[in-house]
Amino acid sequence: MRFRRRKHPRHPVGAAGPSAAADAADGGDSRPFWERKTLRQMTDAEWESLCDGCGKCCLNKLQDEDTGALAFTNAACLLLDLDSCRCADYANRWDHVPDCVKLVPGMVARLAWLPSTCAYRLLAENQPLPDWHPLVSGDAESVHRAGVSVRGRAISEREADDLEDHVVDWEDL
Ligand code: SF4
Ligand code: SF4
Repeated sequence: MRFRRRKHPRHPVGAAGPSAAADAADGGDSRPFWERKTLRQMTDAEWESLCDGCGKCCLNKLQDEDTGALAFTNAACLLLDLDSCRCADYANRWDHVPDCVKLVPGMVARLAWLPSTCAYRLLAENQPLPDWHPLVSGDAESVHRAGVSVRGRAISEREADDLEDHVVDWEDL
């Protein structure tokens, strides 16, 4: 089989955090924005704050060019900070990783590779955010404590020789 590598979008270190986007009620609706707005209705800050910082979309993926089947690896993009699980140079990432893609609302529903825990995917599928999501918990570390980020279980692609040796089958992908 032949494979090709794919990398995917992430959000910046210091991007709008939970408090920046957990805004006040709108028009008498006291629900948080992610429950009362569609992805397309969100402000840029709200959209960015949906990212839980798991880092899983920055793992290299392999795709079978014949069947289209995807496989995740534990080899992360060279720009991913393996501790914070955030992009180390988000603003200038295309200088280093030209194929990094900016995630926009219109793309979410058709991206089969978005992890099952990804907030963008969950909301697009009309599912609630989990308790460990920083917007819900109010704590950016909760995603790591829940064991759903790449912290402690990914390596840099710089250290990976053959990506096919790094395929993983984590339950939360
Ligand atoms: S450049 Fe790499 S680490 Fe940064 S957002 Fe893109 S895939 Fe993630
Ligand atoms: S998978 Fe989703 S929630 Fe996790 S880092 Fe990527 S965009 Fe953010």
